Amino acid sequence: MYHTLTLTPRPARRGRAPIRLAPDASFAPSVAAMIHIALHVIVPLLVALAFYRPRWRTATAIMIATMLVDADHLLADPIYDPHRCSIGFHPLHTLPAIGVYAALFVLPLAIGRKADGQGLHRTARAVHLVGLGLLIHMALDGIDCLV
Ligand SMILES: [Zn+2]
Repeated sequence: MYHTLTLTPRPARRGRAPIRLAPDASFAPSVAAMIHIALHVIVPLLVALAFYRPRWRTATAIMIATMLVDADHLLADPIYDPHRCSIGFHPLHTLPAIGVYAALFVLPLAIGRKADGQGLHRTARAVHLVGLGLLIHMALDGIDCLV
């Protein structure tokens, strides 16, 4: 017994644009989101390799860990919206918070130096990198608002 497969042509869409070349709307943001998340890993890695070479692994780990700042998304509804600008919306992504991150970045350089002047104390170094990681995070989120 044979089954015949009949291919019926799709009815032409009326009143709609023809098939677009761009991915459909639900797919496009997820690619953008993946690139965005990848940058949250790649940029700290490159910064660590460029400026914190002797301890680049620890520096990278600390900066990537600052992604935890996105926990403030849990307060929002919906938690994730690809078309929303995080900066100025989520509490830990506001200007006052960014001011604190800048302080975390700068203050250890001023008050965290070892007595012999050779680099920063361990804690100061960690705080400095947390601040830098958060500033990089905010910059990447901010760029995302522009594109
Ligand atoms: Zn964020």
